[in-house]
Parts: sequence; structure tokens; C-alpha cells
Amino acid sequence: MKSLNSEKKKILIVEDELINLEMLSMMLMDLYDVIKADNGQKALDAIYGEEDLSLVLLDLNLPDISGLEILRKMYESGRIESLPVVVITADEESEVECLNYGAVDFIKKPYPKPDVIYARIRRIIELVESRIIIGQTENDQLTGLYTKEYFYSYCDRYDTRHPDTDMDAVLININHYHFILERYGKGVAEDVLKRIASSISDLLSETGGYASRRDTDIFLVYMPHIEDHRSLLDNISEAARIDGVDENTVRLRMGVYPYADKDLDVEMRFDRARLASETVRNAFAGEVAIYDEDLNESSKFSDQLLIDCARAIEEEQFTVHFQPKYNIKGEKNVLSSAEALVRWIHPELGFINPGLFIELFERNGLIHQLDRYVWRKAAKQIRDWKDRFGITVPVSVNVSRVDMFDPVVTEELNDIVEEFDLDHRDLILEVTESAYAEDSDHIIATVEKLRELGFLIEMDDFGSGYSSLNMLTELPIDALKLDMQFIRSAFSNGKNTRMVEIVIDIADSLGVPVIAEGVETAEQLAALKSMGCDVVQGYYFSKPVPAESFEGFLSGGTDK
Ligand code: C2E
Ligand code: CA
Ligand code: CA
Repeated sequence: MKSLNSEKKKILIVEDELINLEMLSMMLMDLYDVIKADNGQKALDAIYGEEDLSLVLLDLNLPDISGLEILRKMYESGRIESLPVVVITADEESEVECLNYGAVDFIKKPYPKPDVIYARIRRIIELVESRIIIGQTENDQLTGLYTKEYFYSYCDRYDTRHPDTDMDAVLININHYHFILERYGKGVAEDVLKRIASSISDLLSETGGYASRRDTDIFLVYMPHIEDHRSLLDNISEAARIDGVDENTVRLRMGVYPYADKDLDVEMRFDRARLASETVRNAFAGEVAIYDEDLNESSKFSDQLLIDCARAIEEEQFTVHFQPKYNIKGEKNVLSSAEALVRWIHPELGFINPGLFIELFERNGLIHQLDRYVWRKAAKQIRDWKDRFGITVPVSVNVSRVDMFDPVVTEELNDIVEEFDLDHRDLILEVTESAYAEDSDHIIATVEKLRELGFLIEMDDFGSGYSSLNMLTELPIDALKLDMQFIRSAFSNGKNTRMVEIVIDIADSLGVPVIAEGVETAEQLAALKSMGCDVVQGYYFSKPVPAESFEGFLSGGTDK
């Protein structure tokens, strides 16, 4: 891969008139590493022999092989795609032919001023390099936008060139991209991505700036400051609209870090835009959120949690709560198991819900340590209930997707089960859906290993946005947990429970039981029951509670 930095680029000058050759070469020597060829054969040798050439200046009149012939060869072999050719010529006749063979520019004899030549050469090299870069990256094949790494370095470059321009870091995200994928198929979903990208590119061609696509459905835009981000989002949303696709399906959200601080790393600037966009994650209408100091405060709060974490584990500041899951298949709803959910009782900040720290710990490599702690606590509790009450309450624990990539995880879980003398089926493992999407082969292999050991695996958060229904048929799982948000949106806007029904039907046909999470009302429970849902977890039955309080549920049934 060619370097983007300004180390000297290699240029080939092909010219049989020695005076011209020397003149051009002297002109360019300071800025470029110059290679000279005074006939066609030498030119071809260099064109195909020197891989890191950045540009060819090609005279058409050569004694052996004509310049046009060389161009034609480069055209036919495809070399012209990666190596731009500027033709040096005195007559205009051959121009069209040269263009047809892919020449990018002409320099007429007598030569123009050196400055003009420099500027043109520099521009062409840049252009072709960005084209190559785009061609080399996978994601951008779809949208033509830059991938992350190149994007960041282009942003830096933009700042160098426009030091006085106020810039905004903008992050645009599609809410529930998977729904589009699910409902309309890949073609339509990709069309949406392309439309968004092209509307962003159109915008940038007017304002200047750069854009990138990341993680399938996230767009990063670095652009000169504007005031009206709402209209910007409206315009892009408008462009993303496709005939036949329900307008509410494609909803975008936007996080803006305006007047981005150029002393911050570009990545950090977009991290702030991301922080902002997360605050409107669940908004129904297309939403714009602007980064401000409050968010900064909350990110400082995160920083503190991060610093305090190690000691917190040491001092056992974490505690585990248990939320009952009820089997609703029979006449009476019966306690079937529990989910272990961690809480942090911070000495200064008090009670902290996992929503505030799990993701943070995942991003910073602390989650495995915390999870291991929770798994042991859960296992210990199962043992304790067995011993004191003579009953087994299986407990499911959350296994972060980060844990799944740690090669020791299977052994570790196995050790825990053995340490507390449990059955593998007593400690159920919840693996979030998003994990399967990330590196499915790897996750599937780990899941299979765990199942061979005897563990049961529940796929958590199903419907939250990653996998497709088709995936279900291939995945090794023992139960499907529908995402709370998925349930919620089914029961809220217009009560569209169709998707839930479909999922339950498919799971049913695969023999996989379905667990609904976040069930809060009797009405939801009744509806889920009629759809054939097997197990229910939610505030309707109980919030997650400390182990002692959970013991109240052990007597068996429930009044509900
Ligand atoms: P989750 O695994 O999807 O857990 C379910 C979450 O929904 C829990 O939030 C639970 O308290 C909440 N919930 C259950 N029923 C209802 C309901 O009816 N209404 C409402 N509004 N909420 C309900 P919690 O405990 O705050 O945990 C949030 C997330 O943090 C969990 O989502 C899980 O992803 C993660 N988490 C919790 N404990 C652990 C842990 O020990 N390790 C890991 N890796 N993640 C954990
Ligand atoms: Ca869970
Ligand atoms: Ca869940």
C-alpha cells in the first residue's frame, strides 16, 4: 500500500530528447525521486518493474515503441488503473486517443512554467491515490466513502490546509438497520446506504470536507461548521427514501460535535459525536443531538468509573441481583430460572446500574474480570439454594461478547461449575445477539464447545439489530431471548406484534424455546402467551432483587 505521507514519490519521465529529459528531471528532482527512460523499451521495463511508481510523464514520439503503444499496453493490462500517465505532446491530434487509453492529463511542449507542472503532478498523484485507496477497502466498495483509517488521516490533512475553518464532527446512524435488511432484503438495505452516502457526498462537494462509513450503518462526516443540522438530517433522510419502503422504516439519528477542538485526536472528536448520538438512540423521530459539556461531564463520570473499577472488584463493591423467569406454558405460571444481573454499590456514588458501566468495561478490557466475579457469585448462590432448600434454580449469567473472544473462557466456566459442584445446565449462559454478528464463525465455535461441555446457551437481545431470521436456523442455541426494546416497540406504536409472532413461530419450528424480556403488564403477558411464548421475565413478575428477597419466589408458583 502506498504511503500517504509526503516521503518522496517516484516519477518516471519518458522522453527521447535528452535536453527535454534533463530539463524536466531537474525541475522535479527536488520534490520527487525521478527515474528516466529515453526510449520505449526502457519505459516499459520501468512501468512494469517499479511497483511503487506514482506517475509517468510520457512523450508520445519515441524512437522504438511509440508512446501511444505504451499507453495501449498499460490500458490493456490494467496498469493504467494504478499508475497515472500524463502525456507530453506537441500536437493536439492524438489527445482523444490518449484519453481513450486512460491518460489523465497533458503537458504541452513547450513546457509551461514549473509551478504549473508541479501543481498538476501533485494533484494527479493525490487523485489517483485516493482512488486506489477507495478501491482497496472493502466497505467502501459499496458507497465510495473512505474507510475509517483513511478518513481520519484525510481529516487531519483538511485541518492542515484549512487551519482557520471551524469544523463539525457529525455522526449519522441508521436506527434499526437490521429491520430494513430483514423486511426488504439486502438489495434495498444497501440501496439505502448508497443513497445516504451519495447525498452526503453531494453535500460535501459543496461545503468541502470528508465522509466515511463504519460498522455497516454509521456515517462519519467532517465538514465546515453549519448551524442547521436538523435540515441536514432531514435532507439526508429524504434522500434515503425509496419507493415502496415505509417511510418510518428508515430513520436516522445524528450526533454532532460542533466547532470540533482540533487539538483533540480526530477519533476523539467523533467519539464526542457518538456520545451525543447515543443520547437519542431510542428516539422515534429522526433526532439530532449536539455534544455539550454535560455530556463531557458524563464522560468524565465514565472515566471515574473506569479508574475505580479494579479496586471495586477487589473490595467486592459489586453485588448480584436475581430476576425471576417464569414458564407461562401451563395453567399456572411457574418459576423456571433466574437471571443474574450485576449492580455496583460505589462508596461515593452509590447504587449504579450496569447500563452505565458494562459497555464502558467492555470497551476497556475490564469486563472479563467483572463477569468472572458475577459468574462465581451466581454459581455460589445456586449451590447455596441447593444446600439450604434442596431445590435447583438454574441461573443465567451474561457472557459479554468480549469474553467470548478469550480462549480461556470455556475452561473458566467449566472450572466454576466444578468448583461449586453444579450441573452444567444449572449455570445458563446468555450470549448477546450482537456477538454472533461480529465474528460469527468464532463465536459459533466457542458456543459449540460450551454446549459440548453441557452448558445451555440463550441468545440474548434477539431483535436488537444484528442478526437476521435466517441466521437462527444455523446457530447452535438452546433458547432465544427477545430483546426488551423489540417487545416494547411491538406493543407500543399501533401494536404491531406481527414480527414477534413470526420470530416465535420460527423458533418454534426449530424447537427453540422463546423467552420474552421486559414484560411489564398483564396485557403483554396474555398476548405473549397466546402467541406461544414459553418463558417471561420482567417487572410484571419482579424487578431484579437481592438473593434474600428472591427466596420469596422459591415456594413455587406465583399469584400472577
Ligand atoms: P440484559 O441482559 O438485557 O438484562 C435485562 C435488563 O432489563 C436488566 O437491566 C433488567 O433489570 C431489565 N429489565 C428486566 N425486566 C424489565 C422490565 O420489565 N422493564 C424494564 N424497564 N427493565 C427490565 P440491568 O440490570 O440494568 O442490566 C442492563 C444490561 O447490562 C443487561 O441487559 C446486560 O446486557 C448488562 N449486564 C447486567 N449484568 C451484567 C453482567 O454481569 N455481565 C455483563 N457482561 N453484562 C451485564
Ligand atoms: Ca441478559
Ligand atoms: Ca436482554
